[in-house]
Amino acid sequence: MSKDKKTYGILIDYHYCTGCHACEVACKSELDLPHGQFGIKLAEDGPRKKIDGKWELTYIPIPTELCNLCEKRLSEGRLPTCVHHCQSACMDFGPVEELAKKMAGKTKQVLFVPAVNSSRSV
Ligand code: SF4
Ligand code: SF4
Repeated sequence: MSKDKKTYGILIDYHYCTGCHACEVACKSELDLPHGQFGIKLAEDGPRKKIDGKWELTYIPIPTELCNLCEKRLSEGRLPTCVHHCQSACMDFGPVEELAKKMAGKTKQVLFVPAVNSSRSV
C-alpha cells in the first residue's frame, strides 16, 4: 500500500452476511482477546414476522471499540483479518471516500471508521 494520509474503514454489506462468525473468530485470534471480549461482534435481528407476513432474520457484525483496524496486518500490507476471512466476501476495506461511493443506492450496509485510524499512514 502506498503512503498517504487517508482515513480507512470497513464496509459491511450485511445483506449477504450468513452469520458464520468467521470474522468474529479471526478477530479474537488476531487481537488475542480473552473470553467474552470482541473486536467485532455478530448481532442478530429476528427471526420476526414482517408487516407483509414474510419472515426475516438479519445478521449484523458490529465492530467494537477494541478494533484497531488490524494495524499489525496493515503494516505488513495485508488486509484486516475479518475482511480476509469473511465467508461471504461481504466485507470490504479501503479509504472511507471509496467505500462511501460503493454504498450509494444500496441498503443493509454499514461503514465502520475506527477512531484509531484518523491519522493512519499506510
Ligand atoms: S479490522 Fe478490526 S474488527 Fe476486523 S479483525 Fe481487525 S481488529 Fe477485528
Ligand atoms: S465472516 Fe462475513 S458472512 Fe461470516 S459473520 Fe462475518 S460478515 Fe457475516
